Amino acid sequence: MSKQLTAGDFIEARCTRCKAVTNHTIIALVGTVPVRVRCNTCDGDHNYRAPKVKSAPKATTAKTRQPGTPRKPKAIQQDAEQWQQIATQLQSGQAVAYNMDRSFKVKEAVSHPIFGVGIVVEIFPPNKVEILFEAGRKLLRCKQ
Ligand SMILES: [Zn+2]
Repeated sequence: MSKQLTAGDFIEARCTRCKAVTNHTIIALVGTVPVRVRCNTCDGDHNYRAPKVKSAPKATTAKTRQPGTPRKPKAIQQDAEQWQQIATQLQSGQAVAYNMDRSFKVKEAVSHPIFGVGIVVEIFPPNKVEILFEAGRKLLRCKQ
């Protein structure tokens, strides 16, 4: 991180409109400190706010689930409903072909040669992805 920032550079910052840390383009700096940035997501200009470092998602273990944990009937029901939703998406041809050399994002629609169409529900680093298919959840290999 020795590179000096200049106007036009990309930087991560907290956006009040998006209520998230998003990519921003630097508009103005004081010295080497960005003061004014434009959110690349909502296109809004605002003062630069450094992303919070200490509240990284990794610190909380609340939502951490081991791959292959047995699922409750209610959860399976929700899975079925979720799958129905992507089945609709699929008709517009948004699913990408599954490939273990590929990386995935949560909620991405995926089409698999055996399981058919599914949606990415969880990523298990470094190289596992859980995809919800019509037949249920499958843990598949992927690239980080
Ligand atoms: Zn924004």
